[in-house]
Amino acid sequence: MIETTFSVEANSDQATPKLIRELPQELVSQIAAGEVVERPASVVRELLDNALDSGATHIVVRLGSGGVRLIAVEDDGHGIARDQLAMALRRHATSKIASLSDLERVSTMGFRGEALAAIDSIAELEVLSRPAAQDTAFALHGRSGEIVPAARARGTTVLVKELFFSTPARRKFLKSDATELAHCVGAVRRHALARPDVEFAVWSDGRLLERWRTASLGQRVADVLGSDFVAQTVLVNHATATLRVRGYAGTPQAARARADHQFMYVNGRFVRDKVLSHAARSAYTDVLHGARQPAYVLFVEIDPARVDVNVHPTKIEVRFRDGREVHQAVLHAVENSLAAPRSASAMSETEAGHEPNSSRSASRNEDVGSNLRWQPMALPLGPHRVAEIEALWGVAGSHGDAAARARGLQSDPMSGPDLASSSHAGDGTTWPLGRALGQLRGIYILAENASGLIIVDMHAAHERIVYERLKRQLDEQAMVSQPLLVPASFAATEQELACAQTHAVTIQLLGLDVAPLSHGTLAVRAVPAALASGDPVALARDLLGELAQHECSGVVQRAQHELLSTMACHAAVRANRRLTLEEMNGLLRQMEATPRSDQCNHGRPTWRQVSVRELDAWFMRGR
Ligand code: ADP
Ligand code: MG
Repeated sequence: MIETTFSVEANSDQATPKLIRELPQELVSQIAAGEVVERPASVVRELLDNALDSGATHIVVRLGSGGVRLIAVEDDGHGIARDQLAMALRRHATSKIASLSDLERVSTMGFRGEALAAIDSIAELEVLSRPAAQDTAFALHGRSGEIVPAARARGTTVLVKELFFSTPARRKFLKSDATELAHCVGAVRRHALARPDVEFAVWSDGRLLERWRTASLGQRVADVLGSDFVAQTVLVNHATATLRVRGYAGTPQAARARADHQFMYVNGRFVRDKVLSHAARSAYTDVLHGARQPAYVLFVEIDPARVDVNVHPTKIEVRFRDGREVHQAVLHAVENSLAAPRSASAMSETEAGHEPNSSRSASRNEDVGSNLRWQPMALPLGPHRVAEIEALWGVAGSHGDAAARARGLQSDPMSGPDLASSSHAGDGTTWPLGRALGQLRGIYILAENASGLIIVDMHAAHERIVYERLKRQLDEQAMVSQPLLVPASFAATEQELACAQTHAVTIQLLGLDVAPLSHGTLAVRAVPAALASGDPVALARDLLGELAQHECSGVVQRAQHELLSTMACHAAVRANRRLTLEEMNGLLRQMEATPRSDQCNHGRPTWRQVSVRELDAWFMRGR
C-alpha cells in the first residue's frame, strides 16, 4: 500500500530532463539556509545526490588527493541540455521543485538548487553533459562561463578541482588527504547501501578502491560492510499503516565499541536523527548491556508528506510530523527481529546445508518478505511438549526435585524418560539445538545437532528463560504467586523495613508477599511460582535492596525489568548442579521457544555452534 503512494527510487524512466528554473523568492525564503560544503566528502555527497536524481544506474567517483585536488562524478543519467547548463549553476535554480506543495513532499534527494552554485563559488567547477536528445555533449566552465562541445555518452560528469583554492583559511581546516579520502569513501558507501540497484565505483589517484555492482539489498550490504556483518544480523521487515521499516539489525554479539556501523535512512536518504537512533538503541536495551553500540542498516519508508527534509542545509536531519509513531515503529521492528532466537532458525539453515553461525549469507537473508518475527508456533513444539518442559523447568518446576519432575511427566502419558527421543524428534539431532550429550564442568551442556556440536551455558540460558517468563507474566498482569507452606522470616534492617512498606504494591505486583512479622522482622509469605525453588529470603533481600535504590514509584515501574532480571538470576540453575539428560533436553527445547534466548540477561551469548566442518579442520580430516 505504501509502495503505491510513493516511491523512494529515482524515476529511472525520466529519460528527458525537466526544466531547471529559479525558485520564486517566497520559496527561497522557506529553504533551510546554511553552508553545504565543509569538506570534499560534502561535495561527493551532493554530486551523488544529483547523479541519483538523474536516474543514473552507473556512477563513477574519481578522487585526487583525498578529493581536495579533484572530485569527478560521472553518471549515465538523463543529463542537462546545453541551454540549461548555465542555469544549473545558478543559485536557487532547480528542476526538482517548483512550488511550496512540491517542497512539502519532496521525493528527490536534492531540491534546494544550491549545491552546484555553492561548489562553483569555492572550487573550479566544470559540468559536462549530454541528454539523450543531443547528439553531442557540451561542457560548461564555471569560472569563464564558456560552453564548448565535448565528447561523452549520455549522462553527466561534474569535475571539481582545487577545493577552497580561493579561501586558504578554509582549506587549512581540512585534515590529511587520507582522512578526507576516508570521508569521501564513507559518503559513497552511505549512498551505495541505499541504492543496490545502482553500480558504484570509487577511484583514488588512479587506483580502483571499490566497485559495487548492481545487487540485491542483502548482497549490497554484504559487499559494502562485509559478509561477516550480514552473517551477524537479523532481517528487519515491519510495516504499519503509515510506514515501513526494513533492513538488517546486528545481533548483540555484533555490537561494536563505536557507533560506526549505524546506517539509518529515511526514504533513501541517510540521516542522523535522534528519534530514530534512540528507537534503534532502545530495541537493544534488553539484550545489549554496557556501552556497546549496536550495528544496523535500516530503511524507513514513509509518505514524504509526513516528514520534513527541509530542516538542515545538508538534509542530514529530518523532522517527522509524528515522531512517536516513527519511534514506535522502528523500536518494534528491531525488537521483534532480535527477539526470535537464532536457534529457532538454525534448523532450517542446517537442513539447507549451511552452518548457522557462519553462513547466514546475504542471499539467504535476501527475502525481506520472510519475516523473522518472533513466532512460537513455527517451532516444532507440540502443546503437550511445552507442558512437559514447563513441568521440568517451569512454574511447578523445583529444579532437581524428582517428585515435581515426576508430577510433570505424569501429565502426558505419551512421554518417555527421554523427552528428545520420543515422538516428534527422531534421533534428536533435528532439533535446532540438538540432543543433549552431557554436561561439562557443571557449567556447559554439550549437545549434538545436524551441523555438529552445540555448547550451551546452562545458567545463562536458564536465566533468560526465567526472565522472559516473568516478563510475560508481569505484562499480562498474571504473575503467578505461590504461598510458602512455612513463611520464611528474617531480621531486617531499618532500610529493608521501610522499603517493604513503601514499595508494598510493587512487591505484590512482582508476585511476592513480604510483610512485617514482629519488630525488626520481615516474613516472606509468597514468592513468584517460577522462583519457588529458590531461597525466598535471599530473593526478598535482593529485591528490597534494589527497590531502595529507586526512590519514586515511577522509577520502579521503569526498573521493573531490572528487578525481574535480578529475580531470574536467583531462580536460574546454579553452576555445578548435575542435570539429567532429560533436564538438559528440556532446557534446550525451552531455549528454542524463548524470545531473546540467544543472549543471557546481561547480553552475553548463551550458546555456540561448532560445526562438523570446524571439527574436521581441527583433526585434519578429509584433506
Ligand atoms: P538541486 O539538486 O537541489 O536541484 P543542484 O545545484 O545540485 O540543485 O543542481 C541544480 C540542477 O542541475 C538540478 O536541479 C538538476 O536539474 C541539474 N543537475 C545537477 N546535476 C545533475 C546530473 N548529474 N544530472 C542531471 N542533472 C543534473
Ligand atoms: Mg543537488
